Amino acid sequence: MKQDVIELDGAIGGGQVLRSALSLSMVTGRPFRIERIRAKRSRPGLLRQHLTAVMAAAQVCGARTQGAELGSQALSFEPGPIRGGEYRFAIGTAGSCTLVLQTLLPALLRAPQASRVWISGGTHNPLAPPTDFLTRSWLPLMRRMGAEIDLELLRHGFVPAGGGEIEVTVQPSKLSALHVCDRGSALSQKAFALTAGLASDIARRELDRVARRLDVRPAAMNAISLDPDCGPGNVLLLEYAFEHVTEVFSAFGQASLRAEAVADVAINQADAWLRSGAAVAEHLADQLLLPMALAGSGSFTTPGMTEHLHSNIAVIERFLPVSIACLEEGADQLRIEVSTRDQ
Ligand code: ATP
Repeated sequence: MKQDVIELDGAIGGGQVLRSALSLSMVTGRPFRIERIRAKRSRPGLLRQHLTAVMAAAQVCGARTQGAELGSQALSFEPGPIRGGEYRFAIGTAGSCTLVLQTLLPALLRAPQASRVWISGGTHNPLAPPTDFLTRSWLPLMRRMGAEIDLELLRHGFVPAGGGEIEVTVQPSKLSALHVCDRGSALSQKAFALTAGLASDIARRELDRVARRLDVRPAAMNAISLDPDCGPGNVLLLEYAFEHVTEVFSAFGQASLRAEAVADVAINQADAWLRSGAAVAEHLADQLLLPMALAGSGSFTTPGMTEHLHSNIAVIERFLPVSIACLEEGADQLRIEVSTRDQ
């Protein structure tokens, strides 16, 4: 039976509106049309990373597409049956591999067979989840929901050079409810300063700043020098492991920014989250929502509403019979509750 096309306004957010729609269309089999893709961004329409996500999604479910071109601000996507197997996707720029991967995972979890996927491009991008965020923070929660996913970072790729690669294996698995409303007790705090093809004192200065502002033991400070061919690149990662959740905050080196200022960006994010008392920080919040909605149930606390959370709720509620409630709990905590709607 031919299904009604879901019409979406891409201008309610950025690339995530498109990526969530692709994931949801693949798993529900419902076609969609999106207009004004990334209309409010400085370079609107499909960039390489978005186009790779569209083409990859189309390949995994044999979709028919219209408007899948660089710069396009409108796309029609009519999905077919999901197929697991081996796939290789090359973004061709330093666009984020992790965002392309997150687009495909919900479908690959529902494929009739296991999958192995290689994606090349950027693995450590500003404004996207660094691979370490996925391996240390997001994937452990996905596994708790029942997802059998393994991710290996084969080679780091930074902006602007790219050239990184990840390898991912996915076993078909059913997602079940997840509740992360409190962090539980603190287990460990670690800092990692990665540099590739840059002076090693950058990492030392970032870690010195962390030592001055945060309570991280000297033995938990790690300066890691990567193959210079992966560079130039620098990222500072702060990892907070608690009983029920691990959070990873990141900041990227830039030519115009002092190492201490880079460190402050990550430290300030960690500090704001620690003070809020919420279980899940801004980025993990919008990335947990879709898997929870696919499970049909889940909840978490987070410091507040963001554009990503807001637009993701709007897209998810168009495709799935779920209700997503946002309940204020004090000045800087929001409780998000996902439940299945009676039909
Ligand atoms: P845009 O359309 O805004 O130019 P985009 O397609 O790259 O960009 P967004 O729609 O902004 O993507 O989505 C970016 C995703 O990356 C969101 O899920 C966001 O939470 C996540 N993200 C951004 N920065 C981080 C970070 N430092 N750590 C983890 N996740 C991050």
